[in-house]
Amino acid sequence: MNILVVEDEKSVARLIKKGLEEQGFCVEVSHNGTDAHVLATTRQYDVIVLDIMLPGRDGLSILRSLRQQRNAVPVILLTARSELNERIEGLDLGADDYLAKPFYVEELISRIHAVVRRTSGAPSSIFQAGDLTVNFVTREVKRGDRSIRLTAREFGLLEYLMRSPDRVFTRTQIIEHVWGYDFDPNTNLVDVYIKRLRKKICGDSDDDIIETVRGVGYRFVKP
Ligand code: CA
Repeated sequence: MNILVVEDEKSVARLIKKGLEEQGFCVEVSHNGTDAHVLATTRQYDVIVLDIMLPGRDGLSILRSLRQQRNAVPVILLTARSELNERIEGLDLGADDYLAKPFYVEELISRIHAVVRRTSGAPSSIFQAGDLTVNFVTREVKRGDRSIRLTAREFGLLEYLMRSPDRVFTRTQIIEHVWGYDFDPNTNLVDVYIKRLRKKICGDSDDDIIETVRGVGYRFVKP
């Protein structure tokens, strides 16, 4: 993926570039709004990471110009904590997401993936395993012709396991990714939710798409 990073704080730009390149992204950096506007309107990027306060043209003006030209390139705004109005304006102008500074590059990376998934509507958003179909964008889950309704948390759990079939995840890993770091890893939340998921997806049948790996955790196996 080809990403334009527009950020005038050079140390921040450097960190972002390094982090994204480690993930295999191609990164171009621009430190001022005027150059960035030229790049954004003349080249093709998969995502633009766009700071708001910039020398030359500001980020919102670049975004406005892109959208006026019907350029739908996904844009993630970088905002300072205090820039609430700008953030709202940015979303109104058609930004796809925003991230308040300071942030972790890991978070930016996951936002980039999410934005690309959302905006591309690519087939990769649909996961098929046997007769189980999961659409990660619309969050529809089907087993054969049967629609399955999942809560947001149940869906998050299923998605997390499904994205790495056959890989065993510990309860702690699952808690951290699906519930967040603030949750106590010693609760039995995971076991409760796994049980619910199994019931919703497998009903009373014997096939089990989520396998218990005794003493370790759980993994998704294709039905
Ligand atoms: Ca700035």
